[in-house]
Amino acid sequence: MCLTIPAKIKKLNNGQVEIDLRGRDRVVSNNLRLPLKVGDWVLCVNDYVFKKINNTEANELLMLLGTGPKTGSSLKINQTVLNKSDIISWLALEKREEIKALYDTAYNTKLSSLPEHICIHGIIEFSNYCINNCTYCGLRRDNKKVVRYRMSVAQIIQAAKTAMKKNYKVFVLQSGEDPYYDEEKLLQIISGIKKLGRVFIYLSIGDRDLKLYEKLFAAGARGVLMRFETSNKKLYATLHPGENFTNKLELIKKLKNIGYQISTGFMIGLPGQTTADIADDLLLLQELKPFMVSFGPFIPSNNTPLAKALLVDEEMILKTIAVARLLLPQAMIPITTAAETIAKGGANDIRRRAFAAGANAVMFNQTPKRFRDNYYIYENKFFDRQKSYERLGLFTGDFSYQMMEELGLEI
Ligand code: SAH
Ligand code: SF4
Repeated sequence: MCLTIPAKIKKLNNGQVEIDLRGRDRVVSNNLRLPLKVGDWVLCVNDYVFKKINNTEANELLMLLGTGPKTGSSLKINQTVLNKSDIISWLALEKREEIKALYDTAYNTKLSSLPEHICIHGIIEFSNYCINNCTYCGLRRDNKKVVRYRMSVAQIIQAAKTAMKKNYKVFVLQSGEDPYYDEEKLLQIISGIKKLGRVFIYLSIGDRDLKLYEKLFAAGARGVLMRFETSNKKLYATLHPGENFTNKLELIKKLKNIGYQISTGFMIGLPGQTTADIADDLLLLQELKPFMVSFGPFIPSNNTPLAKALLVDEEMILKTIAVARLLLPQAMIPITTAAETIAKGGANDIRRRAFAAGANAVMFNQTPKRFRDNYYIYENKFFDRQKSYERLGLFTGDFSYQMMEELGLEI
């Protein structure tokens, strides 16, 4: 389930393979005894070659992933002390060359902390019912324009099975906060999917009982995706009628204590949010040390109280990714669907730019078509078939698990 950057063979020497990986020389081995020759394009994991690919595939991969900065200017930073005023000034950068220096620094931080794999997640949006009323979200309970749906336990397992046939191995099961899915149903879903094969399951189902989360962990769920949305307590309270930030944060910490790999983060560009708030959000992320961060632009959604709000500039998303990479060198940082939705140059363009700014993961929608269009968090949610990613990145076999392990994901 990973895409990785192709390398070109420079020299072969008794099973040792000298490769050029994006302008950097490395030596790997040919454990699998593939018929290799100088000039071949190859993919590597764990310091060995696992696949030979042709020129067309290599070019396609380089197009998808981008080539990254060649030399790269860099920011003068001391990575051990990143303070709020530095973060604010980076988020406020306006000059092209300074922004590029921030991205290049983040990119180099990624290269020195992680392998060059891009982790591919499959997301299944299994219910759009929600008991909450978050003012930004199209699924809020007061939005009567949404055509509500619930997938059955069997339909959810089937959706995972279909994605697994395409070799997806990391899933996010997401819904509104919907108590219709009680303990019995959620346990059936998790054990049903786990029976299909070796997969990693993130839950993104909202503020459910801690005991329930413990049971779901015991059944095999290993991640929770739950954003704190904003660390500004006042803003949090206005966005979430009847809820408070402290409880949310406590819940996230307790879920981490259960053993879940946490994915958390915030929205960028919320009405009333300042650059200083985003800096606080980033510092909170650094404190929480989530396995995966999760942030994206707030997109004004029809039929919500915030429908008329302004959309954030997409450069702000990339700057936030870059600063997050500096603060959390080893975190999984995805480029999310919301960013793909607002990208002026299209999804592949923003993905490439995000990878060059430190991101290393993507999320692809695996919800069956007849439900997908009604998962209406905001309108015109981006979707495409991701054919190149699926063909070039979703592998079978042991090395696909090794790639995930290299990124810290234990399945
Ligand atoms: N109900 C669960 C999961 C579904 S919502 C939960 O709230 O955790 C998943 C995420 O969608 C939320 O965390 C929120 O950050 C994001 N979201 C909701 N409305 C949005 C909007 N208008 N623009 C961008 N992201 C939005
Ligand atoms: Fe419900 Fe989540 Fe939307 Fe809030 S963000 S209304 S909890 S689906």
